[in-house]
Amino acid sequence: MNKKTRILLIDITGDWLGSGAESGGRFAQVAQKAVRPLVSYPIGLMYLAASAKEVFGSEITCTIVSTALDCPSPTAVVRLAHTKQPNIVGIRALSMHRSMYQDIVRVLRDSLDDILILGGGPYPSCQPADALCDGQVDAVVRGEGEEAFVAIIEAYRHGERRWHTIPNVHAAGTPIRLDNNNPIRLPLDDIPFPEYSKSLVAKFAKVKNMSRRYSNHANIVSSRGCPYQCTYCHNIFGKRFRYRSEENVFDEIRNLYETHGIREFQFIDDIFNLRRDRLIGFFDLVVRHDLPLIFSFPNGVRGDILDHESVDAMIEGGTRYLFFAVESASERIQSLIHKNLKLDRIAENIAYASRRECVTGGFFMLGFPTETIEEVRATIEFACATDLTDGYFFVATYYPGTEMYDLAIKNGFEPSSEDGENFFKPKNGAYAFSAQELTGISRTARREFYFSEKRIELKRRQLPVFFSPKEITEITVSQITSCDIEEGDIGHDEYRRYMAPYFSFARRIDSMGIHFDF
Ligand code: SF4
Repeated sequence: MNKKTRILLIDITGDWLGSGAESGGRFAQVAQKAVRPLVSYPIGLMYLAASAKEVFGSEITCTIVSTALDCPSPTAVVRLAHTKQPNIVGIRALSMHRSMYQDIVRVLRDSLDDILILGGGPYPSCQPADALCDGQVDAVVRGEGEEAFVAIIEAYRHGERRWHTIPNVHAAGTPIRLDNNNPIRLPLDDIPFPEYSKSLVAKFAKVKNMSRRYSNHANIVSSRGCPYQCTYCHNIFGKRFRYRSEENVFDEIRNLYETHGIREFQFIDDIFNLRRDRLIGFFDLVVRHDLPLIFSFPNGVRGDILDHESVDAMIEGGTRYLFFAVESASERIQSLIHKNLKLDRIAENIAYASRRECVTGGFFMLGFPTETIEEVRATIEFACATDLTDGYFFVATYYPGTEMYDLAIKNGFEPSSEDGENFFKPKNGAYAFSAQELTGISRTARREFYFSEKRIELKRRQLPVFFSPKEITEITVSQITSCDIEEGDIGHDEYRRYMAPYFSFARRIDSMGIHFDF
């Protein structure tokens, strides 16, 4: 086959946004942009494209789009597909975007003939049968996709259609094999770096990233796989921790700094800090090269295996934003979800990082199967007692394909497919209280956590280390609107004065009917 193969890769991010354009006056437009979800680089698809380009060079064209930025409605997806006339479309989706994935599959099938449609990412990996959409999707790739994607393109170019013979691929009309999800064979240092063009960097600098910044930045995936056994985890990359060398990671970063002037890097590994020697070695390289770089860890680290020396290395190397995945402060729940976090160690490391003026954040989940109200309260009390500056209180979501889903069913609860679409929104679950009670508890948790005098002081002191005034406004206003709090509830005069402009902003957007989605 000599013809070019045209490939369109669609990363599903955010929600369908209609026209995608803000409307109204300047303030309304700023506010509408502020309440939009975070948007992340389509890094998984960028890895696929880089691998395919390395093998096929100019024999293929590869366009990567993000729904939030390039095609924010099904109509826009169709328009884009008509313009690009792809031979192959790959759609990557999280489980929370299942219905958007299905919308895209439907409109593509209805509007283009003769295209090969592929699914990939967490949702198709965990629910391959569902993601085949009754045969409208030709094949789904589970887990890591670089090798499978190259093999599919190769087969396609030779007129082959036996997708199911390719490792990690499930084809429509063939039996689903759940053992068919293996890590790629290539050492991670041998995978080509994702490609960042000038226009891509500029595009993603205009939207709120995972660290809630608007900045020239890049995402770094320095490892894959995690040996822990958390029951809510999608386990996309397997249980064997594989990692890039410190030099390979630093080469990618230096290249992006020299080519595009990028100074901010978000590590989005599942567990960056599993190997202490590697963490220290990497930041040592950064310090020795004396580049003005800033790092953030918006995906969280395993906080109980850090120590002061690791935290020092991270901060001296430029880390300014560090999230800790805590989830629950109940020992019973920690054991039930197989996370088994040492809570005293994590609290100590949070305190230490915070003392060193790094903006710290915590991830918490409420509503685990069998969880009691006392256990939820213990989590909230733990969060409030820490020196975290920031935090998220999610509702535990029982995704199909996870052990937690099976546990919920064992406890007599059948999760619905809509449950996973918003992990801030309380829904019924296999816990020992009602969804209505969970709504109240979540709002109380946010109020007690975000607006204690200690937290306001931490925010006032630390947020400017990493965030611009505009970003601080967005963060603070989102926190105000996430719970029931009024300006007059802030007892301390100085803190009330500090918070006054944010309350004023929150009242103004509320009067316009613009809301953060909590
Ligand atoms: S630590 Fe993170 S990546 Fe590892 S099993 Fe738990 S949730 Fe999954």
